[in-house]
Amino acid sequence: MVPELIERMAACNDCRKLAVSYGMNLIGSRRPGADPRDWELPLTSTRLHLDDHLITAHAAWLPDRQPNCDICGAWREDHTIGPIHEAEALHRAWHLSAPLREVCTPGNHELTQLM
Ligand SMILES: [Zn+2]
Ligand SMILES: [Zn+2]
Repeated sequence: MVPELIERMAACNDCRKLAVSYGMNLIGSRRPGADPRDWELPLTSTRLHLDDHLITAHAAWLPDRQPNCDICGAWREDHTIGPIHEAEALHRAWHLSAPLREVCTPGNHELTQLM
């Protein structure tokens, strides 16, 4: 079953491009024998591009604060009114892209939906 997020992303050209480059790096970093140090930089930069795009183009997709997450819990306590902080938006984008991280494993072909 294709995660709903992947289906939504398939409808947006930027999402497709950015999710595929992040996803390919994820898959590469999870191959047996991959050296995490080789992947840190490409993973971080492709994820930031994707997060940026999600926050600016698809702010409506960002999930609410998640239960059982300490970081979300800390924000809930200081209850801000108005637009959410950039750091919090980035953190919510991290929750949003969780299904993408789950499917990007070697031998899993769901990412090809976005190619
Ligand atoms: Zn998009
Ligand atoms: Zn959280």
